[in-house]
Amino acid sequence: MRALVKATAGPGFELRDVQRPTIRDDEVLIKVRRAGVCGTDVHIYEWDAWAQGRCKPPFTVGHEFAGDVVEVGRLVTDVKIGDRVTAEGHIVCGRCHLCRTGNAHVCPNTRIIGVDRDGCFADYIAMPAMNVWHLDDAVSYEIGGIHDPMGNAFHTALVGTELPGKTVLVTGCGPIGIFAVGICRAAGASHIVASDVNATRLALAKQMGANDAVRPGEAAGAVKRATQGLGVDVVLEMSGVPSAIHQALSLVRVGGRVQMLGIPAKPMEVDFATEVIFKGITVYGVVGRRMYDTWIQMTQFLRSGQFDPTPVITHRFPLERYDDAIAAIKSGAAGKVVFEVQ
Ligand code: NAD
Ligand code: ZN
Repeated sequence: MRALVKATAGPGFELRDVQRPTIRDDEVLIKVRRAGVCGTDVHIYEWDAWAQGRCKPPFTVGHEFAGDVVEVGRLVTDVKIGDRVTAEGHIVCGRCHLCRTGNAHVCPNTRIIGVDRDGCFADYIAMPAMNVWHLDDAVSYEIGGIHDPMGNAFHTALVGTELPGKTVLVTGCGPIGIFAVGICRAAGASHIVASDVNATRLALAKQMGANDAVRPGEAAGAVKRATQGLGVDVVLEMSGVPSAIHQALSLVRVGGRVQMLGIPAKPMEVDFATEVIFKGITVYGVVGRRMYDTWIQMTQFLRSGQFDPTPVITHRFPLERYDDAIAAIKSGAAGKVVFEVQ
């Protein structure tokens, strides 16, 4: 089969002919139809410091996908050949303190497909049946293939907060931030301010339902107008950029909530006394998707039609054009980029 492989400890990928994966008794084999390309794949492609510290080539990259089940292991009971599926790409131990208390999203033994083991930029992928998520008939392979980043957005937007009537600031309108704007709109937020430095992405945020889609320098004014100077109830920090993180802490209202998804490239300074403690705010660190509350919420929102992520997908490539897919993401002008695998 074809597989996009991180072959050596250096930049780039190679499209190779490799052996089809064999499955264990508790796994299924999935024929990959669509696969989302993500910033993590760019880190691995460029072989930056994070990738060097984390990944051990050779391995197949990619962690966002949907496809058809073509083989099931002996112990698998609730997944059948022919099922249309996607999957949670974080493979957790199921046995640790966190897994056993309903917090598997922060399992310390997590192994991620396409990072710590073979991923989905290939004709087939083996997955533990435990991680498989069935797609409704009405959900396309393409939408199925972006459940992972959409799930990040659902987790960030919906955990620990009631959105109906709330004012929200989304800092950073990458694909996940733009999904989040649409989710907040669908969930009943009363006013959504979205900020980014990129005009294309601001236009997408507007299309997904932002009331104000503004450059960072205009965010404070927009929040002030929308909240009579109070500050927003909730900030979804989706850029990982230090200045945006400070802005998130500054524009949330006293007693509000900051949901932090964006990952700063290096350590940064925060004045905890004034930015966090005396404001009485709650800061929540997002890791992946809650298993499986986030997946259930996402499925219900898609099933009801109240949230449609389709406009966020701006680029589609065959697997052979991986260099172009990576370039589209690096340009900063793309929404979500997907591979049409087969
Ligand atoms: P992305 O890089 O496409 O999006 C970041 C956006 O922030 C870009 O559009 C960029 O133009 C914008 N930006 C830059 N400076 C800004 C500023 N000062 N104010 C507002 N916006 C600014 O990334 P993405 O794929 O949408 O992911 C968003 C973030 O979430 C990234 O940092 C990513 O690493 C992180 N992430 C975290 C998790 C998790 O589990 N915590 C999972 C996936 C991604
Ligand atoms: Zn665990």
